[in-house]
Amino acid sequence: MSRTGTERSEPLIFIVSGPGGVGKGTIVDALVRRDPRMWLSRSWTTRQRRPGEAETAYVFTDRDAFEQRIADGGFLEWTDFLGNYYGTPTPEPGAQADVVVLEIEVDGAQQVKALRPDARLIFVLPPSRDEQERRLRGRGDDPERVRARLRKAEDEEPIGLRLADHVVVNDELQSTIDEMLAIVESARREASRPAETKG
Ligand code: 5GP
Repeated sequence: MSRTGTERSEPLIFIVSGPGGVGKGTIVDALVRRDPRMWLSRSWTTRQRRPGEAETAYVFTDRDAFEQRIADGGFLEWTDFLGNYYGTPTPEPGAQADVVVLEIEVDGAQQVKALRPDARLIFVLPPSRDEQERRLRGRGDDPERVRARLRKAEDEEPIGLRLADHVVVNDELQSTIDEMLAIVESARREASRPAETKG
């Protein structure tokens, strides 16, 4: 994500993470639609595309191509999540972007925070377990996979809460989006203040 010229600084990085079924995908799509200066990274995955899932949801690839990209140093972070690889290609945001959004799980969030300690993590929680389970089941995964994802979500939650800079409960989509846009605006103001006034 290196840049030439001195007229602008590195984009801020916002990580949106949270247990499966919390609605992260819908949230990040809505965020970048509302604010064109936010650029959403498109991950690579070796998982099969779900019925009805957009072709552009990921770069769907195979293990050989994924491992080749790892060897080439082409990922900012990557992980194995329930038997499939997921990874963030080295971000290449357009010139108008001042915020890079990564929608990733907690292992990847930890890697990004280690590389870029200024990256902010917004951890999204479901309004209830029942609602989370209902959303996970509604995706068409088989019941064993749904159970595995629920178990994984329980493991991820305490780690995510510990790492998080902000915690948002996705009760109602519109207010979740507004809350997140306010967090991003505040980070932009902070980043544009002269260094000696930050504290
Ligand atoms: P799903 O299979 O439900 O699309 O994604 C499974 C999990 O992988 C979700 O928690 C999602 O946020 C996460 N994920 C998606 N892309 C990436 C990525 O590039 N890196 C990492 N570490 N996690 C990702």
